[in-house]
Amino acid sequence: SSFEELGLPKPINDGLLAMNFKKPSKIQERALPLMLSNPPSNMIAQSQSGTGKTAAFVLTVLTRIDLTKPTQPQALLLAPSRELARQIQGVIQTIGKFCENLIVEAAIPGSISRETGVKGSVVVGTPGTVMDLIRRRQFDVSQLKILVIDEADNMLDQQGMGDQCVRVKGLIPRTVQILLFSATFPDKVMNFARKYAPNANEIKL
Ligand code: AMP
Repeated sequence: SSFEELGLPKPINDGLLAMNFKKPSKIQERALPLMLSNPPSNMIAQSQSGTGKTAAFVLTVLTRIDLTKPTQPQALLLAPSRELARQIQGVIQTIGKFCENLIVEAAIPGSISRETGVKGSVVVGTPGTVMDLIRRRQFDVSQLKILVIDEADNMLDQQGMGDQCVRVKGLIPRTVQILLFSATFPDKVMNFARKYAPNANEIKL
């Protein structure tokens, strides 16, 4: 199968070409049609790192956002560390190189100005900083369309971060599409995941 069959917007296809991604990896091939379907449905995807899972959720995020509202937060991605958040931000910017007006902000400690707050359509952050910004009204989550949690096994298992993820979910629209990605889903995490992302399609590689 090919990326063309997915019917991605042209600027995204151009980004894939520039990266020399010729065809979808296995996880992309299986997950993308489900994640891109309308109406949007939740996803719980188990896949090792190195299998292309980052690009799988990044392509979904880029397809879902409306670039005519460049400063309105529409996608939120949560990661367990600043380093991973920065890395994901970089992947979004690289694949989204030809998406005009794409603004991807990192919501990690010290990265968002107090005066302006979050001003990007895509926000990648760590849960604590994201919660702080929402509480201080520096991050408008009212128009979010998609929430991605990477390394969900780490995120949902750790006491503090799992709680923050639950709080974030409580503050965003109920209609948000939720994607959970992880290399492993131990039983306890899977039970949590199924409550967090109800009626999700489940993929295990
Ligand atoms: P990840 O599983 O997200 O850590 O990605 C592993 C590596 O695979 C990264 O270096 C990506 O740039 C690369 N990659 C992801 N998707 C594709 C693809 N469809 N074709 C070629 N390389 C890819």
